[in-house]
Amino acid sequence: MAFPLFKKILIANRGEIALRIIRACRKLGIGTVAVYSDVDIESLHIRAADQAFRIGPAPPHESYLNQHRILSVASKCNAEAIHPGYGFLAENPDFIRACEERGLTFVGPSSTSAELLSSKLEARTTMASAGIPVIPGSEQAIQSEDEIVAAGKDLGFPVLIKAVYGGGGRGLRIAHNIREARRFYKVTQTEARSAFAKPDVYVEKYIEKPRHVEIQVLADKHDSVVHLGERECSIQRRHQKLIEEAPSAAVSRKLRERLVTSAIRGIKAAHYENAGTVEFLLDTDQRHYFLEVNKRLQVEHLVTEMTTGIDIAEQQIRIAAGERLAFRQSEVHVNGWAINCRINAEDPARGFSPSPGRVLSYVSPGGPGIRVDSALYSGYRIPEYYDSLIAKVAAWGANRVEAIARLSTALDELVVDGVTTTVPIHKTILHSQAFKRGEFDTHFIEDHLRMRRQSPHVSGDEAAALSAAIASVLGIVKVVPAVGPQRTAPLGSKWLVRSRRDATQARLQRSSRYFETI
Ligand code: ADP
Ligand code: ADP
Ligand code: MG
Repeated sequence: MAFPLFKKILIANRGEIALRIIRACRKLGIGTVAVYSDVDIESLHIRAADQAFRIGPAPPHESYLNQHRILSVASKCNAEAIHPGYGFLAENPDFIRACEERGLTFVGPSSTSAELLSSKLEARTTMASAGIPVIPGSEQAIQSEDEIVAAGKDLGFPVLIKAVYGGGGRGLRIAHNIREARRFYKVTQTEARSAFAKPDVYVEKYIEKPRHVEIQVLADKHDSVVHLGERECSIQRRHQKLIEEAPSAAVSRKLRERLVTSAIRGIKAAHYENAGTVEFLLDTDQRHYFLEVNKRLQVEHLVTEMTTGIDIAEQQIRIAAGERLAFRQSEVHVNGWAINCRINAEDPARGFSPSPGRVLSYVSPGGPGIRVDSALYSGYRIPEYYDSLIAKVAAWGANRVEAIARLSTALDELVVDGVTTTVPIHKTILHSQAFKRGEFDTHFIEDHLRMRRQSPHVSGDEAAALSAAIASVLGIVKVVPAVGPQRTAPLGSKWLVRSRRDATQARLQRSSRYFETI
């Protein structure tokens, strides 16, 4: 017997992911409630939803993290379920418990399972007991400088100091020696306290030159667990993903078997339900180690949707409503290859610092195999308060070569004028021979920036070409005299710079006329 789905779901998020979830709800005939902060009044997710409620001022803790406001909107508008998207409250066990206590369905795992997995230490212990390889590391939170030194000596330097409750690539610091271990212990604790409200840190052996490979899993409330294959997420900057693909060029059939066996075993050991991702690191000997479970819809879920044809957001809602998975493992097929670029409003030339501002013009790419998940439109003002992700541009191809070719074309078509974005660095990566060969690890970005001198993988000509490309990426932004909120423009687009100078000139002329008439 099929369980009834929901009449109405509140989406406790913003931007592209809120739109993505609204689309899944509409497909299922479910009513949608958007919430928004003051600064998001012009956001697309408000227009896409059936209803929208203001939840507070721009800072996240006053709006998208304001549990009380979100829960009262849910009860006021009779929403039956809350979909948290990613980030914000998505993995907060207290919020999940608050939903459970009010009889609201949380589209995600139970509070008990989320609580267990929110501690990286508890997650590691659970996985180790289930026979899954974990990265060697401390079993408890570190209590003193002496303890971290002892752990470092024991594991062998370098070690990675990690926030027990960390996420989003923050609260991680490499210590290469005793001196750094002492020095970074307190620093990481302070960072962890301010970012995650809990100062606890522990250490892991630092895996050299690893690849990040993760398994997407769906688990229903009736003990059925299927996996949707792997995603490769090694192209990162500052431990945050930039490009993701499915499947992974590094994963053989045998390795995949080992990865999915570990992932499914881990999901079962944590009594996890709904969509989840088990992250692993692969070392240079193809050994895999458990990293963490991401207890949410992932940013990069779209590449798996493109290769399997399974709508993961829809499955999340069906699972939350109590439905059984409608397919077995043998019915899941990975077809072709999909690659996604996370386009951020950031300035690669300034250490990827956020570059919010007004988008003067936005043109989205298209064509066979292209998918763009974005909440941008021409004239939209990207606020400075939230994540700098502005678009996900993904391409599907019958194979990796076709996916790369389509994605490169899509990035050439994409226009985001008015703010500095990471598009140039994506183009550089897609054109690099190392990326095309699928030969990379989590240090790809640093290695290629350093490659001006030498690289083991790459020929002299290739190095020169890449260095030139990277230099052009680094030199591609230029400060233009202030025109409202946007101060930078791609130098590559001379017409744009000129037209904006003209616009500045025109504005100055207008204002001087204005002053003259007073
Ligand atoms: P994914 O693995 O889904 O690609 P990311 O690690 O890139 O996710 O994180 C997605 C979003 O969620 C980012 O905005 C990130 O900053 C945020 N995020 C992830 N984990 C946490 C956390 N524990 N606390 C706060 N924000 C987080
Ligand atoms: P987060 O919760 O912030 O996503 P993760 O534990 O998933 O943190 O790690 C994020 C990234 O940091 C990984 O993808 C990898 O690049 C790097 N990393 C984490 N642990 C290690 C380790 N022990 N050795 C080497 N790199 C690591
Ligand atoms: Mg992670």
